[in-house]
Amino acid sequence: MSSTPYKRKSVFALADCNNFYVSCERVFNPKLEGKPVIVLSNNDGCAVARSNEAKAIGIKMGAPVFKIGNIIQASGVQVLSSNYTLYADMSRRVAECLSQFADDIEIYSIDEAFLELTPFAGSDLTAYAHEIRDTVKKWTGIPVSVGIAESKTLAKIASRFAKKSEGVLNFCDNKDTDRILEKTEIEDVWGIGRKYSLYLRCYGIRNALHMKYADVNLIKRKMGVNLTGMIEELRGNACYPLESNPPPRKGIRASRTFCHEITDYNLLREALCTYTSRAAEKLRRQNSLAGLVTVFTATNRFQKESFRFRMESVRMPVSTNLTSEIMAGMQEGLKKIYQRGEKYKKAGIMLNEIVPEAQGQRVLFDRPDRGKREKLMKTFDAVNKKMGTDTLKYASAGLGEKQQWRTVFNRKSPAYTTDWGALPGVG
Ligand SMILES: [Mg+2]
Repeated sequence: MSSTPYKRKSVFALADCNNFYVSCERVFNPKLEGKPVIVLSNNDGCAVARSNEAKAIGIKMGAPVFKIGNIIQASGVQVLSSNYTLYADMSRRVAECLSQFADDIEIYSIDEAFLELTPFAGSDLTAYAHEIRDTVKKWTGIPVSVGIAESKTLAKIASRFAKKSEGVLNFCDNKDTDRILEKTEIEDVWGIGRKYSLYLRCYGIRNALHMKYADVNLIKRKMGVNLTGMIEELRGNACYPLESNPPPRKGIRASRTFCHEITDYNLLREALCTYTSRAAEKLRRQNSLAGLVTVFTATNRFQKESFRFRMESVRMPVSTNLTSEIMAGMQEGLKKIYQRGEKYKKAGIMLNEIVPEAQGQRVLFDRPDRGKREKLMKTFDAVNKKMGTDTLKYASAGLGEKQQWRTVFNRKSPAYTTDWGALPGVG
C-alpha cells in the first residue's frame, strides 16, 4: 500500500453480490423467492446469511438459531444449512462473468470483486454498471450491486448504498457523494475497524465525511501513516491499486477486430460463423461441451460518442460441441443484437458452462443421431488438422472472395488477440 496518489484519476467498480448465500439457494429453488430465508453456519449454529425479508423481521447477522426459534416459527422463515461447494461454484461463475467487463479484476471475497474501469473513464459508467449488473443476473441468476468511484474505499461505500437504490451508484461526478459519506458511520469505512474508530471518534471523526475532511497532519501524528492513505482515498485519490488475481477463464472465446467496419448482416454473420467454427473445434479438442453461447458486437471504441457494445447469451437446449448447433445459437443471439446501420468494428463469440463430454446429460427427446454426428465432427476436425485449417468448413462461414472481415483475421497480429476482456466500454 503506497500513499502516493496515482497521477491519472483511477476509476474502480465494486461488484457485490446481494445476500450471496441466500441468492445462490434461490437460483436453484425459486420457491424461496420473496420469503424470509436464512442460511446457517457450519453445524447449523447461527445465521450467516439473511434475505432482505429475514432482515426486515429483525433477524440479526450471526444470531444463534436456538435464540430465534420463535421468529422462525411465527414468520415461516426458511432455514437452510450452508452448501459451500455450491457457493464457491456460483462465486466462480460470477467472477467469470465479471471478468468480461474489465482487463483487471480483483476477487476480494467470495461475493465481492473490484474491477478496474480506468480505461473507460469519460464514458457513461452508470450505464456500464447497469450492463454489468444485468449480465451477471442473466448469466448466473445472482443479483449484484455495483458501486463506482475514484478509489476502492469509495467504491465500497457506493456499493453499499447502491443496494438501497437501483443496484448501481456512481460516485464519479456525483453531487450527493458527501451527503452519502455523512451517512456512513466511521466503523463502516473499509479498513477502519473497531480500534481505529474508537480513536477517531475521540477526535470527533464519526463518519466518512468527517474523515474525508480531517486534518491529515494531525491524523498522521496521532495514528500513523496508514490512515492518511484512507483519507486520500475518501477524497477520490486512489492509493490502493487493484491486487489483480483474475479468475481462471473457463470459457472459450473467439473474436476479432475487423480491418474495415462492417454494416452488412450477412458479412457479420459470416465472420461470426468462422469464429464459431474455431471455438467449437477448440471445444471438441478438449473433449468438452458448452451449455451457453454468447455473441457480442462492438463498434469502434475510439469513437466514444457512438460506441455501442451489445451482447446476447443463448442457452443450448442440450450441452453440445456440434458446430451446427452452436452456430444456430450464435445466430439466434446475433439476430437480437444486430442493428441496421451500426458500424461493427469487432465481433466474437464465447462458449461457457463448459463440461466434460462424459458429463453431458442426454435428454429423452434429444436427437437420436447425436453420437454419429459427434463422430462426424471429429472426422471433420481430423481432416482440417491434416490438410490445413478451413479445408472443410461450413458454407455459412463464407466461401466468397470479398470477405472484408478476413483481412485482419489472417494477419495474426498480437494486437488483435482474442482477449474478450480487452473489449467492453460504453458510449
Ligand atoms: Mg455481499
